Amino acid sequence: MSSLDARLGVLRGTTPPIPHNARTLAALTANPSCDRRSLLDAAGIDKDALAAHLDLPRPLRKSQLALDYGIAFERKVTAQAGAPLVPLLRQALGLTLPEVSYEDVNSVGSDDDKSSPQLRHARTRSLILSAAHRRSDPRTLLDHPVLRLTVAGHQAYLEPDVLAFQRDGVFHVVEIKSFPVIHGQPDPIKATAALTQAAAYVLALRELLADDGLPPDRVSDTVILVNPRNFTRHPTATPFSAHKQIKNLSRHLGRLRRLPELLDKLPPATTFDLAPGPDQKPTRPRNELVAALATVRPHYTPGCRHHCDLAFHCRTEARNQGRTAALGTAVRDDLAGIDTIATALDLTDGRMHPSRDKQDITQALRHAQRIHADLQQDTA
Ligand code: SF4
Repeated sequence: MSSLDARLGVLRGTTPPIPHNARTLAALTANPSCDRRSLLDAAGIDKDALAAHLDLPRPLRKSQLALDYGIAFERKVTAQAGAPLVPLLRQALGLTLPEVSYEDVNSVGSDDDKSSPQLRHARTRSLILSAAHRRSDPRTLLDHPVLRLTVAGHQAYLEPDVLAFQRDGVFHVVEIKSFPVIHGQPDPIKATAALTQAAAYVLALRELLADDGLPPDRVSDTVILVNPRNFTRHPTATPFSAHKQIKNLSRHLGRLRRLPELLDKLPPATTFDLAPGPDQKPTRPRNELVAALATVRPHYTPGCRHHCDLAFHCRTEARNQGRTAALGTAVRDDLAGIDTIATALDLTDGRMHPSRDKQDITQALRHAQRIHADLQQDTA
């Protein structure tokens, strides 16, 4: 075990690590400036269990009905060896008929419904390299492949829905999503989230090929989203560029390499261990846990409520500390460099002299104060 692993293990305590997946990697890009989240994720800490022990409300999750609908739609699209998917991809990627072949990597060499990720990754790797080097008949579609991505020095197993590749050996990630594309337009927020997840698969596939000396351009930046068309259950395939998301995710993964630096800033013996008892219920005093969280710098934004289990804890903390972030993204961005409401008020009222870099924003604050005072006078 490396010393980094040992240090992260101390933070996590006695429970096994929660592995990364494409969704957690996508969440990294949602708030890359948060050291707290970076450390908790790198140590594989169960944030949901942490939030439950702290008695926090959790972010809204998909309903079971929506999850079941998503599974049913994916099954429909990949049924009969991908028969409904093939014509869609043939059109979206320009595949020709002789290129169509299919392999489901869900179950490898056994009758089990699902083989281990390690086994499925080994099979995926062999099929992809075989196709990439044209050592055998190249597969056009790989269903339920398993890829591996290095995250902060650890191997994370990721499961794209489908990988498709063309005759010239360029691979495409295909994501099947149950949100609709209406008149050719998906919901932009949902589409961006799907492309960010797909970016993790693109990077993992590039890592696999790079190990074999193959260049990154063998994996396309263009991702195919397969969604229900309009208000029906009929699938449609749309190519989207994930270039921006790939670049962002790549940069954030690079930032995780500064973990030793973050760990060095922690007081000795800091841990987020929930100390489960014989009945597996956490026994760690809550105030100790809150104190441990306070040792790592958060970067709260209202968007945290959509992607992080600790959002309500960090929001309360930001409010208690009078942080400008608690007032919303627009205020925080407008007051960039001024972290607390008290500082903003002191600068406005002249109780604090602005440093050179805060002169512009101080002028703007004083201007806003004058307008506010004038308006109050007018209405008096
Ligand atoms: S909720 Fe807290 S820990 Fe999570 S990303 Fe936001 S600031 Fe970071």
